[in-house]
Amino acid sequence: GNELMQGKRGLIMGLANDKSIAWGVAKALADAGAELAFSYQGEALKKRVGPLAEQLGSDIVLPCDVGDEASIDALFESLKERWGELDFIVHAIGFSDKGELRGRYVDTSRGNFAMSMDISVYSFTAVMQRAEKMMSPGASALTLTYYGAEKVMPHYNVMGVAKAALEASVKYLAEDLGKDGIRVNAISAGPIKTLAASGIGDFRYIMKWNEYNSPLRRNVTTEDVGKAALFLLSDLGSGTTGENLHVDAGYHVVGMKAVDAPDM
Ligand code: NAD
Repeated sequence: GNELMQGKRGLIMGLANDKSIAWGVAKALADAGAELAFSYQGEALKKRVGPLAEQLGSDIVLPCDVGDEASIDALFESLKERWGELDFIVHAIGFSDKGELRGRYVDTSRGNFAMSMDISVYSFTAVMQRAEKMMSPGASALTLTYYGAEKVMPHYNVMGVAKAALEASVKYLAEDLGKDGIRVNAISAGPIKTLAASGIGDFRYIMKWNEYNSPLRRNVTTEDVGKAALFLLSDLGSGTTGENLHVDAGYHVVGMKAVDAPDM
């Protein structure tokens, strides 16, 4: 490991299992010497998250449903008691009814639109409202987004609209919190086979397409995302805020199918 995060304490939100992007990020941070706390959603995930946290030397594993204001308050009250200050935060949370992650965007229901925006977008702002009070100059926050915010991707539908709003909120948060020396950034990750991703229609096809057509001719791993997160959350990223860093094997610069890509 390196010493980039020595003496730094941070909260990881959105760990579900060892396939989670949050796991790749947590491992990179712990390897660099960070002290970690984890939040999980629902009792069922506690059994998974507890042992993973332990692997990285953490015994701070707290429940938080970001759809519930009181639950977010309780999380930050516990953290404040335990640590007092917070150096970084990782928001790796998104949710939508998977019945609407296929078919047409135009058919999105009002209820799922509101819920997807609440859990996938507002939650980051709600979390930063609390985190801000525990942060000092040099602190850094990170959320996860996807290219479906910028361009239409099959099946991504309401999540694309939510990610576009999340990316805009990163910019507004960067401005508000920048005056206090707090940085706010996003990583736009290429497709990775996780629990959340398995809800998206034809996800295997999307993975293949990215593998054949990205400049690096491969998909990214949660380790790739972890390394970029380490940059943004450590002092290496001291001059970077409001940024959306693409960790997608370069897919976002591509204009059309590669000449060497197989027919699909
Ligand atoms: P994941 O299923 O491992 O993680 C999603 C997490 O969101 C889970 O831990 C789940 O418990 C949490 N969550 C959902 N609703 C919640 C709530 N109400 N309160 C608290 N937590 C809640 O999947 P992942 O792919 O690692 O997702 C992490 C983030 O990365 C998401 O924002 C996702 O949109 C984003 N992302 C994923 C990909 C991909 O291809 N997997 C690509 C780009 C961006």
